[in-house]
Amino acid sequence: MGVHTVEDLQRQAEIEKEGLGLFQSTQSVIREALEKLGYTDEHYELLKEPLRMLTVRIPVRMDDGTVKVFTGYRSQHNDAVGPTKGGVRFHPEVNEDEVKALSIWMSLKCGIVDLPYGGGKGGIICDPREMSFRELERLSRGYVRAISQLVGPTKDIPAPDVFTNSQIMAWMMDEYSRIREFDSPGFITGKPLVLGGSHGRETATARGVTICIEEAVKKKGISLQGARVVIQGFGNAGSYLAKFMYDSGAKVIGISDAYGALYDPQGLDIDDLLDRRDSFGTVTKLFQHTITNKELLELDCDILVPAAISNQITAENAPRIRASIVVEAANGPTTLEATEILTSRGILLVPDVLASAGGVTVSYFEWVQNQQGYYWTEEEVEQKLTKVMVESFNKIYDAAHIHQVNMRLAAYMVGVRKMAEASRFRGWI
Ligand code: GLU
Repeated sequence: MGVHTVEDLQRQAEIEKEGLGLFQSTQSVIREALEKLGYTDEHYELLKEPLRMLTVRIPVRMDDGTVKVFTGYRSQHNDAVGPTKGGVRFHPEVNEDEVKALSIWMSLKCGIVDLPYGGGKGGIICDPREMSFRELERLSRGYVRAISQLVGPTKDIPAPDVFTNSQIMAWMMDEYSRIREFDSPGFITGKPLVLGGSHGRETATARGVTICIEEAVKKKGISLQGARVVIQGFGNAGSYLAKFMYDSGAKVIGISDAYGALYDPQGLDIDDLLDRRDSFGTVTKLFQHTITNKELLELDCDILVPAAISNQITAENAPRIRASIVVEAANGPTTLEATEILTSRGILLVPDVLASAGGVTVSYFEWVQNQQGYYWTEEEVEQKLTKVMVESFNKIYDAAHIHQVNMRLAAYMVGVRKMAEASRFRGWI
């Protein structure tokens, strides 16, 4: 992530040729989903953009004594269903359009897994890999001070995302509680367990992806035992997923990080790789024989999981994807043209808004536990998450068959309906 290899730049040029950025392509699927459901243009006008978008400038005293001013965003897509919810990412390539698109996706995810939330998202343009622990703390607290008017346990609830973790959530919760002058664990999710975090939150996204894979292989008549799995990305989602796949008897034959990919047709030793990766999910640098991320995506395998960044499977490489199931653990890894190509080739594509919804589902469980002050066991969380994911997967799989559309459009149709209905009942439309 954040590394521009020649390969990355070529891929970017291809995406631009395809003509649709993340935000525009999200809008075009929303429009299509609303049309299919028989909603009017007014619904599209309401839902095509976030209701609110705040841009903030955050001055941070760096360790060398200088002051650096960072730019951050918080987007709230739609709060007809309930408070908005979604992560905060720290990344050098964060931009306004991306944050907006990501907040719309959060609305869709919450609709799909039927949570009482709308979608929100935040981001700060920064490179946490180059910042010290204390600089990160000052930045996290500064961000909360800057957005505090707009957020809160019944308004908008942040969470972790790319390059943010439970420590950052802890600082943010502490800052918010100081501002409000009472303890507010429900302000943010993804906290450490001792501060009101939930069992299972750390692994929730990967658990959700695993459950989607278990359902998808049933539909395809493939056994997970010995199935060949390729995972792009070794961050929170990718690394825990690799572990779950490895433990369930599947063969993880390929993994990657921003610097390259590892491939072994006999299966990689995931426990060993997990021991050796750093906190940003980097591990391939330690190996001499690596392949590129581009080559990784085209490996002969049964299940391919893009769990890194957006726009990885495009019209250019989609014809060469050899997996029979693609499960999107990242946000937006497959372009719309590539979605069409994969689907027409009979590949089962499980879209991001469904596959990655495990994270926000357990965030909701965390928030419920915070609100009631009564905490659940790991088994309870696991059971509840499984139920939600299995039902959501099948709801969308069936909707795709009934409406004769691809899984992405079916997921958007399911996701957008609740928001549209809630907006109608409130008299907004
Ligand atoms: N950042 C995660 C996502 O994109 C989790 C959001 C949350 O837990 O609120 O789904």
